Amino acid sequence: MPAKIIDGKKIADGILENLKSKVKSMNEKPGLALVLVGDNPASEIYVNFKEKTCKEVGFYCERHNFGKDADEMELLNLVTQLNNSPKIHGILVQLPLPKQIDENLITNSILPHKDVDGFTAVSLGHLFSGNTIMAPATAMAVMRLIESTGTRIEGKNAVVVGRSNIVGKPVAMMLLEKNTTVTICHSKTEGIAEKARKADILVAAVGKPKLITKEMVKEGAVVIDVGINRVNGKIVGDVDFENVKEVAGFITPVPKGVGPMTIAMLMENTLKAMELAKKI
Ligand code: NAP
Repeated sequence: MPAKIIDGKKIADGILENLKSKVKSMNEKPGLALVLVGDNPASEIYVNFKEKTCKEVGFYCERHNFGKDADEMELLNLVTQLNNSPKIHGILVQLPLPKQIDENLITNSILPHKDVDGFTAVSLGHLFSGNTIMAPATAMAVMRLIESTGTRIEGKNAVVVGRSNIVGKPVAMMLLEKNTTVTICHSKTEGIAEKARKADILVAAVGKPKLITKEMVKEGAVVIDVGINRVNGKIVGDVDFENVKEVAGFITPVPKGVGPMTIAMLMENTLKAMELAKKI
């Protein structure tokens, strides 16, 4: 039987509608600052989409654009200003940054309670110690999509392909927190296919089209495709969707899978950041 398609767009729309009605009745609105540096076309598309969604749900949104020659100091000054702004609850600096700027330095200059991307060392430390305050939005999106299937995941085998600090590792940690047994694969892993075939939950976060083939997927597995790749003008994931859906139990499409859920999770984090600010 072909896999059930996990409609990330529909689930995300439901979350956004819910947020919108919550925000309507609030006097103070959650505020998100979006910082874009340089002229990376993909980054611009992501920031435009985040800005549009912010406005749709009724959040306050500030956008700060810098040219590709921006220097570290001006960016640090902006983050300090945003850290001190009572109207701003969440700060998102779109990555990647131009090479003259130290991404680590800029990311970690964001106050942890305003770190809606969950990328600072403090946020990741909390996540890794099982005491999450702000988790990376894409990792949250992956978990919500898995949970949306209603599949019991405790005790199951999960394989995460990709070990970046912003996707692969946090996803693996969140799966571990849910009592799955996690294997993390990367570019040097030997025998990925054999490991993937044992996965009840398979998450692909690599950036290589059709890396995950039908032969690598266990029958009935939940397959979550984080990858975003442009092939002949079309956006595709890391999973060979057409063939894998013949064996998987559940599968996310690309587009309309993890992408829209990531934006919805960012909005949830911004609301959470506003609630955190009240406690500080
Ligand atoms: P990244 O930092 O480039 O990391 C890619 C990971 O894949 C690395 O750990 C790398 O291993 C591993 N890898 C590369 N080739 C491999 C191979 N042949 N077999 C197994 N593993 C391999 O990328 P990222 O930021 O995590 O993003 C991954 C993908 O998700 C990209 O397509 C990105 O565009 C997409 N993405 C989507 C969303 C969304 O909202 N949908 C959000 C973020 C990212 P090494 O560590 O050994 O190099």
